[in-house]
Amino acid sequence: MARRKIVAGNWKMNKTPSEAVALVEELKPLVASEDVDVVFCVPAIDIIPVAEAVKGTNIAVGAENMYFEEKGAYTGEISPAMLVDAGVKYVVLGHSERREYFAETNETVNKKVLKALEHGITPIMCCGESLEQREQGVTMDFIRQQVKVGLQNVTADQAKTMVIAYEPIWAIGTGKTATTEQAQEVCAGIRACIAEVYDDATAEAIRIQYGGSVNAATAPELFAQADIDGGLVGGAALKPDFGKIVNYK
Ligand code: PEP
Repeated sequence: MARRKIVAGNWKMNKTPSEAVALVEELKPLVASEDVDVVFCVPAIDIIPVAEAVKGTNIAVGAENMYFEEKGAYTGEISPAMLVDAGVKYVVLGHSERREYFAETNETVNKKVLKALEHGITPIMCCGESLEQREQGVTMDFIRQQVKVGLQNVTADQAKTMVIAYEPIWAIGTGKTATTEQAQEVCAGIRACIAEVYDDATAEAIRIQYGGSVNAATAPELFAQADIDGGLVGGAALKPDFGKIVNYK
C-alpha cells in the first residue's frame, strides 16, 4: 500500500499566541489537501489557541518537544497527558537543535518516543548527521545508531505508525538543501535499517520525511523519491510558501 505523504511545519521558537492564530488563519486555505497529512508543530504556549484555530480543517497540531515522565517535580516540562488533553496528535522528538542546545541524547529520545506512543501521540523522530560526519563518510553509521537506539523497545506495530525525519544538520536553516540523491540515499538507508530491526512490512509502513531548507522549489523532486514520504519544514513553514510545499504536485 502506498504511504500517505506527511508535511509538517516546525515553527521552532517563533510566533506569540496571537501571531500563531493569525498565521493559521493565513495558511488554512493554502494547505487544504486531501492527499497529504498536514501538521503544524508549534511552541507549547501556542498549542491551545492553534488547536482551536484549526478545528474543522485538515491541519493536525503537533508539539516540538515533550517530557518522558507522567507528572511531578519537573519544573518547566510538559507531559504527554497535557499534550493529549490540548489536542496534540504529533510530537517532534530529538530535533538536532534540542540535541545540540538542550542535551537531548539517543537515550532520552527513546524514552520520549516510548512515552508518546503509550499516550497515542505520533512521534516525529529526528535524525541526521553533521557536515563533519558526512565528510568523514560516517553518515549512515551515525544515523543507524540514532534510529536503533531511538526505537529500542518500540514494537513493530508501534513503529509502523511513526514518522522519522531525516534532517542533515548542515542543511537546517542554512538554505543548503541536500541534493535529491543524498536525501533519497539516506532515507532508503533508514528504511533498510528499519527492515533489519523489524521486518519488511514495518519498513514499508513507516513514514520517512526529509527536512533541511525544504522550499516550494525543492519539494516536488524531493517528495517524488521512493523513500521520501514528505517533509519536516522549518523556515518555509511560517510563510505562504508552506501551502505550495503541501500542494507540491
Ligand atoms: C527544521 O527545523 O526541522 C528544518 C528543517 O528547518 P529549515 O527548513 O528551516 O531548514
